[in-house]
Amino acid sequence: MMLKGKRIIIGITASIAAYKAAALVRLLVKEGAEVKVIMTELAKQFITPLTMATLSKRPVMVEFYNPENGDWNSHVDMGIWADLYLIAPVTANTIGKMAHGIADNLLLTTYLSAKCPVMLAPAMDLDMYLHAATQQNLNILRNYGHCIVEPNEGELASGLIGKGRMAEPEEIVSFVRNFFTTKDMLGERVLLTAGPTYEKIDPVRFIGNYSSGKMGFALAEEFASRGAKVILVAGPVALKTGHPSIQRIDVESAEQMHTEVMKYAETHSIVVSCAAVSDFTPIYKAEHKLKRGGETVTLELKPTFDIAADLGKQKGEGQILVGFALETNDEECNALQKLHKKKLDLIVLNSLRDVNACFGYDTNKVTMIDCHEKVYHYDLKPKQEVAKDIVDRILKLVKK
Ligand code: C5P
Repeated sequence: MMLKGKRIIIGITASIAAYKAAALVRLLVKEGAEVKVIMTELAKQFITPLTMATLSKRPVMVEFYNPENGDWNSHVDMGIWADLYLIAPVTANTIGKMAHGIADNLLLTTYLSAKCPVMLAPAMDLDMYLHAATQQNLNILRNYGHCIVEPNEGELASGLIGKGRMAEPEEIVSFVRNFFTTKDMLGERVLLTAGPTYEKIDPVRFIGNYSSGKMGFALAEEFASRGAKVILVAGPVALKTGHPSIQRIDVESAEQMHTEVMKYAETHSIVVSCAAVSDFTPIYKAEHKLKRGGETVTLELKPTFDIAADLGKQKGEGQILVGFALETNDEECNALQKLHKKKLDLIVLNSLRDVNACFGYDTNKVTMIDCHEKVYHYDLKPKQEVAKDIVDRILKLVKK
């Protein structure tokens, strides 16, 4: 519910991509936003007002007034009501009119009256998009301070391939979320580890763990959306990073992770060790696949570098170090020991005894302990919300 209470007007113009506006409204409502939909007359040919009214839970507005009872749809009131006016999809025609102050429908009069920020997700064929007139009009709108969610490249409704596909609803929602997030981490450089590590046994086998990387990736997104520049050193995971302020470095083993972290640690004000780094690695890595035989195979393991502890040893002045602890028993006591041993400023504790938390789940339940041994308990929440709690707590340490 990251958009709880946010008031958003969704404008829909006449493009094939109007069908995606249904998913967009649904996602925004799911995140807690209050949504009012305005459509152009022609947009009704592409998606019905009934669909949009059902999803937004409010009547859709198309005309200046209701022809049945003369009720006026006040574009001025709407412009005052909204926290954001998001036109998705916006056609070349509407872009042109907006750039030149033409107001011949409710969507456009509302645009001219709106006091709130404006966000646009263009959708059109590649040649229309590339036309100098469209590009010039988009530049005018950028100069007005509007946010343009660039269209993607791909197959277009015409069958041609190129730039012009409206951004996917999830991408647009992530822009909206980002837009409403306060940039309280601006100027901070964050180094983060996430995911498991794989320690090679032979060319096809490894020692790994169940970490999915979801918690670390949610943290990277949260830091970035709050204005930080993030380097994310990720073990082998199937997750994607979307934010332009996240630089991702993929590694496999604990040794590779250690090398990359140590390369960047000195220049980063906040270092968060979220990865489930393997504590052991095989002493010998077989060059060829180990063959099945009758006899028992023994793997000899040696300890890996403790990255968090090495960070603690070379901790810079004012640098904030955050670690994670996954415990099965004596949770707080063990976490506290780790906090001091690794010279951490904050430790985030997960207990394997909690249901629906830890490895692989989309939710997590954490306890945080700071360097003054103050303990903070949190409820079970989606990992994105846990990430917010963790960044809030780190922010308190940065401010001191
Ligand atoms: O000692 P333990 O592995 O339980 O400590 C967990 C914390 O240490 C986590 O923050 C984890 O990312 C970090 N760690 C590390 N390098 C290792 C092992 C753990 O950075 N080799």
